[in-house]
Amino acid sequence: MPANTQSPIRILDNASIDRIAAGEVIERPASVVKELVENALDAGATSVRVTITGGGLTSISVEDDGHGIPFRELPLAFERHATSKIGSAADIVSVASFGFRGEALASIASVSRCTLVSRVPDEEIGGMIRIIGGETERREPAARNQGTTITVEDLFYNTPARRKFAKTPAAETKAVISTVNSIAMAYPDIRWRLDSDGTRVLDYLPADSLPARAREILGAAATEHMARFSRETGGLAIGGLASRPTYTRPNRMQQFVYVNRRPVKSRAISQAVQIAYREVIPPGRHPAVILFLEIPPGEVDVNVHPAKTEVRLMLERSIFGAIVGALQDGLDLKSASTRQPGADAPADEASPDAAARDRLAAIARAQDDYLRETFGASTGPVPASDAPRGQGLLFSGSVQSSSRPASEDPDRLLADVTDSTHRQAPFWQLHRTFICTQTRGGLVIIDQHNSHERILYNEAKQAMQDGSVHVSIQQLLFPVHLELTALQIQAFQANSSGLARLGFAIEPFGGQSIIVQGIPSSQKNWRDGELLLDILDDLSDAGQAENAVQNDLLASFACHGAIRAGAVLTVPEMQNLVDRLFATDLPLSCPHGRPTLIQFSTEELETRFGRR
Ligand code: ADP
Ligand code: MG
Repeated sequence: MPANTQSPIRILDNASIDRIAAGEVIERPASVVKELVENALDAGATSVRVTITGGGLTSISVEDDGHGIPFRELPLAFERHATSKIGSAADIVSVASFGFRGEALASIASVSRCTLVSRVPDEEIGGMIRIIGGETERREPAARNQGTTITVEDLFYNTPARRKFAKTPAAETKAVISTVNSIAMAYPDIRWRLDSDGTRVLDYLPADSLPARAREILGAAATEHMARFSRETGGLAIGGLASRPTYTRPNRMQQFVYVNRRPVKSRAISQAVQIAYREVIPPGRHPAVILFLEIPPGEVDVNVHPAKTEVRLMLERSIFGAIVGALQDGLDLKSASTRQPGADAPADEASPDAAARDRLAAIARAQDDYLRETFGASTGPVPASDAPRGQGLLFSGSVQSSSRPASEDPDRLLADVTDSTHRQAPFWQLHRTFICTQTRGGLVIIDQHNSHERILYNEAKQAMQDGSVHVSIQQLLFPVHLELTALQIQAFQANSSGLARLGFAIEPFGGQSIIVQGIPSSQKNWRDGELLLDILDDLSDAGQAENAVQNDLLASFACHGAIRAGAVLTVPEMQNLVDRLFATDLPLSCPHGRPTLIQFSTEELETRFGRR
């Protein structure tokens, strides 16, 4: 066909329409699990069992004890826009169930080999229907207890492009675990089981409360640090559990957000959580939060995204502020600096004090920033030329322009720094973060965290690649018993040999727990095991390609193990750090690519002081 003539307009056949729709709803095995599990909940199930093989790419089966589907309606369940959940357009705004688009089963069945077996209470025996690539192959009576089992095999077998997007089975398994966890958290009264490749991954017995279920999903260590929060305001209810500032994570994997009990991802809500904790936890750390937001159904557009996870909230300033306030009050997060003298006494609601006004103003500003960033409102980013100049007394203003990451002549710099004759002046530490030292060519300023990260990364990489390298292990006086979450256990199993090579002496201890007997001597941040949990959390962050796993382990090990900004160093420690830094092959940047040091040449200093 010549490229410049238009093809005739045609109406797509149903199979093509279904496959296109499937592309929107069904991105990966976890999306199938989500749809099937939501259907089970809508059917009133009290027990849901998910079984996957090959990360769900080979097969997924979801079994429930809900009300079932009558034999004669089996084919209907797979029709597009067939749903038993709404009768008319008017119902759409008020519907409380998960489904109601009537698309999921049709979509799933169009891109897989799908079998459904079901029985309703008033039928003697149940029925089964088998659909392959959207075509019904057979329907016949079949025995089953009340409830429904749907089995989805060879997902994306007829859409090779989609199949190519799939990650490794291990990565898909992680995504399925996250999906089941996020729904199970909101339904503590339901029994949940998940098996993957014949291994029981999750088994949550019905629990009588959110804290009990949270304990199963997040582990005892997290829930010990969590407290309740709640607030009701103008038709809106906010509540849940959140960790005190004493417990933080390296990422947001322990944050669960629900709107009308439906798991959602909402950047606006994440932002509100971050702001609530801004003054009490360090940057880069995140609290564990389980947050339920109840809004009248008409005010939230859950069906915006076909997979229904990204909600578009009418996130007015009042909602944003209510979330921040609920968390700050419930967890007592107001820092001392914003607290009025005597603020622990009952607050006088009628006359907000200056500190409270400041806090509200800060929230409003942060929210404006958020809105601007998200929706690109009229005020764009400040042009570089207008950016405020550096306030530093010593290097005011011109630091950005004339100091440089020391990448220009690394060999010369290395020679300079390692030339010990020029180290007469002792090393000194600036703001407990930077190390200053004199070199033959001038002055270098070294970032203590970035440098230590580079050192640990390289030493660990060598240990991984060459088993003969001796890593020194520090035996713990008292072995530490750690209770892991399902995702952490997966990450541990996938990385156990790597961790051993790095110098972690760990033994499985039945169920979801492990015993740590020894840790790498190089580690300075063991923190009673939190270091290892941080590394496992990093590794279980879904969506990483398998071949990157080793690098992820190394980077995470280095990052969490490295001395932090704020740690006081002695002169010999600084000397040792600098020597080890220059013994690495890439001394000028950390594993994330940030510079480890910047330099000022004597010429530059002379020029600036008008000596040249
Ligand atoms: P929706 O959930 O949007 O209605 P689906 O395609 O997910 O659309 O399901 C179509 C219909 O099939 C549902 O409305 C329901 O009547 C029926 N159905 C699907 N799964 C189940 C189940 N596990 N138990 C009972 N009925 C089910
Ligand atoms: Mg559905």
